[in-house]
Amino acid sequence: MSSIGRNTQTRTIVADHIWVNDGEGTVLSAGAIDILDGRIEQVRAITGARPSGPGVVDLGAVVVMPGLVNAHAHTPMSLMRGVAEGTSLLTMAGFLKVLRTREAHLTPELVPASVAVSCADYIRHGITSFADQYFYADEIAPVVLESGMRARLAWGIVELGDDEARSRELAAAEKFAESMVGASDVVRGWLGPHAFFVDNQPEAMLTELAVAKRLGAGLHAHFSTTSEEDDWCAANGGGTAVDRLVEMGMLDVPTILAHCTSLPVEQLPALAGTRAAMAVVPSVAMQSGVSAAPVREALDHGVTVALGTDNVCNNTNVDMFEEMRTLGKLAAFTSKIPNQVSPREILEIATVGGQRAIAGDDSDGRLVAGAVADLIAIPVSEIARGPVGAQTLESALVYGTSGSSVSHSMVAGRWLMAAREVLTLDVASALSRQQADYDILLARIAEEAGASNGARGQ
Ligand SMILES: [Zn+2]
Repeated sequence: MSSIGRNTQTRTIVADHIWVNDGEGTVLSAGAIDILDGRIEQVRAITGARPSGPGVVDLGAVVVMPGLVNAHAHTPMSLMRGVAEGTSLLTMAGFLKVLRTREAHLTPELVPASVAVSCADYIRHGITSFADQYFYADEIAPVVLESGMRARLAWGIVELGDDEARSRELAAAEKFAESMVGASDVVRGWLGPHAFFVDNQPEAMLTELAVAKRLGAGLHAHFSTTSEEDDWCAANGGGTAVDRLVEMGMLDVPTILAHCTSLPVEQLPALAGTRAAMAVVPSVAMQSGVSAAPVREALDHGVTVALGTDNVCNNTNVDMFEEMRTLGKLAAFTSKIPNQVSPREILEIATVGGQRAIAGDDSDGRLVAGAVADLIAIPVSEIARGPVGAQTLESALVYGTSGSSVSHSMVAGRWLMAAREVLTLDVASALSRQQADYDILLARIAEEAGASNGARGQ
């Protein structure tokens, strides 16, 4: 087996099994994937001798599959992992109480180490692409570029009707998105209204839309985590929030609508055929004690559905395999219909759906000619699977595989991880810098508490 180093140029990957994600369950055993300029040139079954020689990497007894897309993430928040346990961040009150009180002390230099920790965590769990939403995106981008991951980085905007905050954040977001135009083949700058109608008012939304159109970027917002958007629209001119998004043209650009746990099914037809994608986060729905997003109904209406992990304050880990099986179990539990969303559909959501959400090409998310060469490998020995004929590989990938079993990861033809070693980031150093950053944050919070206690004592 060829060894993979930081600068290994791979022309052909050979593996015992390749799950191509063609919608028909095809598995090539054995198979080869030829790669050229970051894209897949050809995928073929091997019947005779396995290819070998310069540029050929034979991964042996693994399943190769398309990389997973985390369609809703907030990378810097690994700095605050754990702080929100027991609080629903899907409510404005929980978000303000637990997060904004800490984020008020966050300064740009405390961001990069936590982004590196998150990216390494993603790579180790089979995520090759992600859509991020957070402020200080200019501090996030250099680390993501170093990681080699494919990403859409949206500058998160919270304006809450404050004119000064709105103009400051819009200017920062526009400047950032402009700076990313042409900066990378795999990373792009987007705009991130934190939540439509809730903390970004229509005036801000229309500016965000105009910038997105001008730069060919997309939008990434939280949506329908409660009925707050519909309540706001009903009180300000009537109609539903989805109606208003359509009227405003917000769905004419790639738009990620994260969560959608309170989205009434009768509003789904208005999302079909648009560039909007629902990014569902079933673990967070369960941990926050809210409803399941209407995944089955959305698929039936032809709405793009993607899967995300959200932040690790809301969701305690970034294992997309766990997230996939949680989606399946939650859909079955809620509907009382076993396999209401099938393993094949779930895998499609986590790959093709995610690529659509981040405005990838039609073939992206599949291992087919022309698609991006974003893929992962899992040792066969790590997949709990029944006998062939008893259980499909798709079922075993969703219900019998852990993200931590992923051994190799590639994005655009570049290896990000080999034999479970992340090649692009120094994980140990990032973790120790993250601890130092959190100690600084704690000291700032303690200092403020001391100052306000002192002020009260006078
Ligand atoms: Zn979120």
